[in-house]
Amino acid sequence: MAEETIYSKIIRGEIESEILYQDDLVTAFVDINPRAPKHFLIIPNKLIPTINDIEIEDEIALGRMFTVARKLAKEAGIDEDGYRLIVNCNAHGGQEIYHIHMHLVGGRPLGPMLLS
Ligand code: 5GP
Repeated sequence: MAEETIYSKIIRGEIESEILYQDDLVTAFVDINPRAPKHFLIIPNKLIPTINDIEIEDEIALGRMFTVARKLAKEAGIDEDGYRLIVNCNAHGGQEIYHIHMHLVGGRPLGPMLLS
């Protein structure tokens, strides 16, 4: 059984966060340390620690993360200019919180993908 992170408390409303969207499968909220004018996190309600732990049954929730990203980008007015979706995995990917999350960042030109 994977260990809960702070995100489980955010999903349950046990700690404060700016929730942007929530349904039975996913939750989206504002990143506490925004790296761009718009920086949101979209997570499955189910605790899946990393991309390596994804199961076939998770496909619906993972797909929902993309449709919620599309909705939030439109609401934030960054859909036409563009934005970036990032999912980090494990140490080399820079993952800090071990509950899968999709970063939605935008609101300024983000430049080329960072590889180093
Ligand atoms: P990672 O590096 O794991 O891909 O990203 C973790 C993200 O979670 C970071 O961007 C960090 O700012 C965000 N974060 C960490 N703790 C909290 C918190 O308590 N509330 C919110 N809203 N975001 C958090």
